[in-house]
Amino acid sequence: MGVIPPILGPCLKQLFKKPFTNLFPDVPPIPTPGNYRGIISYDRDKCAGCGLCAMVCPSGAIDFVKEERRIRIWIVKCAFCAQCTSACPKDALFMTEEFLSADYDKHTKEFILE
Ligand code: SF4
Ligand code: SF4
Repeated sequence: MGVIPPILGPCLKQLFKKPFTNLFPDVPPIPTPGNYRGIISYDRDKCAGCGLCAMVCPSGAIDFVKEERRIRIWIVKCAFCAQCTSACPKDALFMTEEFLSADYDKHTKEFILE
């Protein structure tokens, strides 16, 4: 008879435990913690059109539309670093608690903020 591998005990125990992960999408997502960096939001009315956010964005997610003095954000490129929110002198950018952003079309309107 062979030796019982030591991993077998923990594996069997685990079969009778509740899962640690959230069973999304059957169960709604758990609340996000404070200061969570979710999908970015843009307040066009507050924007001064300075272009600073586009300069600091490390992933090229922000286009500066010079003629209209505004920006366009490609959410699919965003790395959720929040550097743009720190750079914005007008508080026109902020991170939301939203994180559900899966889609089959990366060019869907929902992923472009302007
Ligand atoms: S959060 Fe970071 S990656 Fe996303 S748009 Fe702002 S600077 Fe760019
Ligand atoms: S840094 Fe702020 S004010 Fe300047 S372009 Fe970006 S969003 Fe507008």
